[in-house]
Amino acid sequence: MKKKIVNIILASALLAGITYQLKPKEAKAVSKNLTAHFIDVGQGDAIYIKTANGDDIIIDGGNKAKGKIVVNYLKKLKVDDIEVLISTHPDADHIGGLDEVLNAYKVENVYAPNVSHTTQAYKDFLLAVKKQNLKIKPVTAGVKLNLKGVSAEFVGPVKAYPKSDLNDWSAVLRLVFNKNSFLFTGDAEFKSEKDMVNSKKLLKADVLKVGHHGAKESSSQLFLDKVQPKFAVIGVGAKNSYGHPTNETLNRFKKYKTTIYRTDKNGNVVVTSDGTKITVKKDK
Ligand SMILES: [Zn+2]
Repeated sequence: MKKKIVNIILASALLAGITYQLKPKEAKAVSKNLTAHFIDVGQGDAIYIKTANGDDIIIDGGNKAKGKIVVNYLKKLKVDDIEVLISTHPDADHIGGLDEVLNAYKVENVYAPNVSHTTQAYKDFLLAVKKQNLKIKPVTAGVKLNLKGVSAEFVGPVKAYPKSDLNDWSAVLRLVFNKNSFLFTGDAEFKSEKDMVNSKKLLKADVLKVGHHGAKESSSQLFLDKVQPKFAVIGVGAKNSYGHPTNETLNRFKKYKTTIYRTDKNGNVVVTSDGTKITVKKDK
């Protein structure tokens, strides 16, 4: 609306003694697109998603030292609050930065698999959740996120794993926006992938967040056959000591002609869907 017209309306509203709430607290910037930002946090994962309805989702926050990068990234995008924050699993390269995000933003819902860890990063996360008077909603396959305009359902973890297999506990989210689909896999490895395939849940995704930074124990052919990704994104640090991603894993994607992006080479990777078409922007 033109400023002059707004002023006239406001003036008449005042005269009539009516209070217009121009920007209600729940007002959200509705757009045509869903955007997923794979933030470059070196070795680790940090993902920010804005739905077309204006809901903000965070999946992991990188290592502890990277929390600031994530918060600054969100501030730059003028994120106001976070509707859904997901910790895929308690490993430090995923959960470490989340306390900083929780301390910087009002968060409405926190989701995490029902497995604990003894590290300081995990304790700090729990403390930050408590500070906001939130209770963690446990993730298992079948749990759905109550968000408008998208269908979002966890497809993993399908079951409880030994505590020593933290990666297989990873919360795996499948997000569908109109005709486009995304799969965010945390660090899920072969065992969890096999259980997801056997669960018969739909795993197909245009965009796959590659499991466990491209390690050779993730992205099995069995799993990829179900996902059939057109695009894949790997959150990985340059010259990391783990040798991620491995050539063995990268080769498994050839069958599907997947275009692979990686944060060590491309920096921040931003994937936008208008509901039917996907476009990808990278920093480098
Ligand atoms: Zn990891």
